[in-house]
Amino acid sequence: MRNYGITQTSTARIVMICPNCGQENSELAETLRGLRFYACSGEDCDYSFDLAGSGKNTGNALAEACKKFYAAFYAVRGQGAR
Ligand SMILES: [Zn+2]
Repeated sequence: MRNYGITQTSTARIVMICPNCGQENSELAETLRGLRFYACSGEDCDYSFDLAGSGKNTGNALAEACKKFYAAFYAVRGQGAR
């Protein structure tokens, strides 16, 4: 038997809204999976999203972060984010 639900997130886009400048950083979830942090792409902004969380358990930290990111993703979906 195969679990199709597992691979579902590999093609999802995650939108991270910068709390510093408000820039919407859109990136593939699969890309973020291999990163410890993600630098904001906003001009004159040095903010970095901490993807590794506390560092104790990267897998769980990322999963928790993804839940928040997905909430943001759904919030902005109506604005044409793909
Ligand atoms: Zn920023």
